[in-house]
Amino acid sequence: EKFIFVTGGVMSGLGKGITAASTGRLLANAGFDVTAVKIDPYLNVDAGTMNPYQHGEVYVLKDGGEVDLDLGNYERFLDIDMTFDHNVTTGKAYKHVIEKERAGDYLGKTVQIIPHITDEIKRRIREAAEGHDVCIVEVGGTVGDIESMPFLEALRQFATEQDEEDFLLTHVTLVPYSKNGEQKTKPTQHSVKELRSIGLQPDVLVGRCDDGLDPETKEKIALFCDVPTDAVFSNPDVEDIYHVPLVVEEEGLDDYVMEKLDLTDRAVSSEER
Ligand code: ADP
Repeated sequence: EKFIFVTGGVMSGLGKGITAASTGRLLANAGFDVTAVKIDPYLNVDAGTMNPYQHGEVYVLKDGGEVDLDLGNYERFLDIDMTFDHNVTTGKAYKHVIEKERAGDYLGKTVQIIPHITDEIKRRIREAAEGHDVCIVEVGGTVGDIESMPFLEALRQFATEQDEEDFLLTHVTLVPYSKNGEQKTKPTQHSVKELRSIGLQPDVLVGRCDDGLDPETKEKIALFCDVPTDAVFSNPDVEDIYHVPLVVEEEGLDDYVMEKLDLTDRAVSSEER
């Protein structure tokens, strides 16, 4: 199994979920069996009790699981049915670990976030990915939030446990315009710095911007964030979110990701489809 983790920087509502689902769609187009896991760093065990006015629709899965509406994006983009175990929340992870602690499963040990919660997070991700070629793991929230720290630490451990060609980290950030119409890379630089301070180096950067990123913007991001220029992609505003896979395909996101994950030889080319 190959894993693509997707984190978000600067602020929420950037299009991290859509970018993650679009990456998945392109890999599915290339003939791979793709699944997804959504991580929600809240203490609610599931989204069933959350106010839809605040949080959007509660999305109900085939097995009755009440989850975040992002799971609906994955089902529609990937044309798959997902199950409740493809949504990992802080509440779920802690509940399971605390129940095990009460049952005496830890045999006198001090139960801690590292390693017990991080192990539980990694176990859930690996279980959900079992039997699939590629698993997209979207880490909800924004890098730097206290809430997402245990998940990012689990991600760091995960990266060290995987072979290099089985793990890829995509970071989605905001590239705003200044008042004089320049694309600004500073928010991206800061959020990547934040990631690196917890031991994570992104492989791919996706800049959400009103328009596509200028070549100079990409070069600057590449230089400051220590990635090759061809690892920087744009996610511009589109009228219909189902066009996002086409937009990122145009820039070659799928080819870059497949190359990194050593999937190119197994991919079905667009002519063969
Ligand atoms: P995040 O996961 O970063 O919170 P989402 O992927 O859920 O963000 O997207 C937030 C909102 O922005 C959604 O309503 C989504 O439909 C919209 N959106 C995402 N990407 C684009 C885009 N490229 N163009 C226009 N709207 C977009």
